[in-house]
Amino acid sequence: MTFGPASDDLVALNDLVAGYCARAVAPADDETLAADLLLKRSLINRLELDFARDAARFEATYTEDAYFNPSTVSWLRENANMTSHAAATAVCAGERAERLQLSAAALVDGRIGFAHFGWLATTARAIQASGSATAVFDERRLLAQAETLTVQRFRTVCDHLRHAADRAAFLEEQVAGREQRSLTLTAFEGGCVAVHALLDPEGGAVVRTALDPLARPLGRDDLRDREQRYADALVELCAHRLDQGQVPQAASQRAHLQVTTTLETLRHLRGAPAGELEFAGLVAGHSVQRLACDATITRVLVDARSQVIDVGRSERVVPGATRRALNARDRGCRWPGCERPPSWTSAHHVVHWGQLGATDTANLVLLCRHHHWCVHEGGWTLVHTEADGILALSPVVGVMTPLRDPGPVLPGALPAKAAGVVPPGTTQRSAAAPTTPRDHAHRAREPALPPA
Ligand SMILES: [Zn+2]
Ligand SMILES: [Zn+2]
Repeated sequence: MTFGPASDDLVALNDLVAGYCARAVAPADDETLAADLLLKRSLINRLELDFARDAARFEATYTEDAYFNPSTVSWLRENANMTSHAAATAVCAGERAERLQLSAAALVDGRIGFAHFGWLATTARAIQASGSATAVFDERRLLAQAETLTVQRFRTVCDHLRHAADRAAFLEEQVAGREQRSLTLTAFEGGCVAVHALLDPEGGAVVRTALDPLARPLGRDDLRDREQRYADALVELCAHRLDQGQVPQAASQRAHLQVTTTLETLRHLRGAPAGELEFAGLVAGHSVQRLACDATITRVLVDARSQVIDVGRSERVVPGATRRALNARDRGCRWPGCERPPSWTSAHHVVHWGQLGATDTANLVLLCRHHHWCVHEGGWTLVHTEADGILALSPVVGVMTPLRDPGPVLPGALPAKAAGVVPPGTTQRSAAAPTTPRDHAHRAREPALPPA
């Protein structure tokens, strides 16, 4: 649907702006650039107020029959590419502009922005509509605050006023906001998953409070950007809940990741197939090795027709007593600058048990999820040094990072010998192995599973 033509004076302004925007941009010093930014924002603010006045005039005569939309706000949303909030603010600001003369003058002078003006207008409307005897709209007082506060802080002042005037209406707004909440998980080819979420303010605050501490950079080698750190923080938080057994069981089964793989993949042999991770599809052998570093393993033997002929007992790769000794020695991720505590780490085999590395404290080191990923998939390599330390070699040639020395083990920190019972709380990822017909032939020379 087309509308028009637009009024002559606006067409002339449009031509001026088009000519200005098409100019050759000359290099400018910082001071000129700063002044340009402020003047441009002031012009945009004035146009916003002018737009709001027009929107209010449009609203005054708007009929659904003429424009095939239930309201001016929805018409603006569809035709002017605005959000509902921006469109509703424009209409409200335009309707109040004549009565908010002081604020309109402050906007023209550049003392407040249009966002401030929008909150002044919606607050005036809310207080007057509430009929509250106690809350009054004092433009002069509120404007003085708008002139000194950022938009975000000024909005808080306005919200307090609106709540004081009509808490039922305030609650209604919050409930309506919460009704829009959603989270969708969309799987892409290759196993990646897109997470799209809209949370109510409290839900958003809960998520941010939980993710922020986990999303901080982990030491000086951490080259992840902010978005990558937030993505890792979300996965780390979920993985920790699974590791701790704090996710409700389904069909009497503890929730955990399930990887199916072959002996060849665990041994990291050339020509070995990829692993299969439930909900994710195929994962690289490097990832299988990481997940198997500190997991519960179930051996499944199949015959040439892929029929299961034997299912072994589930065994923990790192026995509880060894894990407790590691917790006492390493006290968290050993990567320099990383402070994840023991329950947020996995026990990494410097020489993988699939390649006959021992599951003892000399060959094990605690690493957080991110640093464990670095040494399996990220190209870093851990090696023992002659001085009993461990060195991390970066994929960038010549960069080496000595891992933090383990602390002295405090008397009484080590567990009683041979507890023999699998304690809750240590890492519990599962890897079911092996399932190819060839396994039968390999059985005689399988590497010994780490002692349970
Ligand atoms: Zn590992
Ligand atoms: Zn770490």
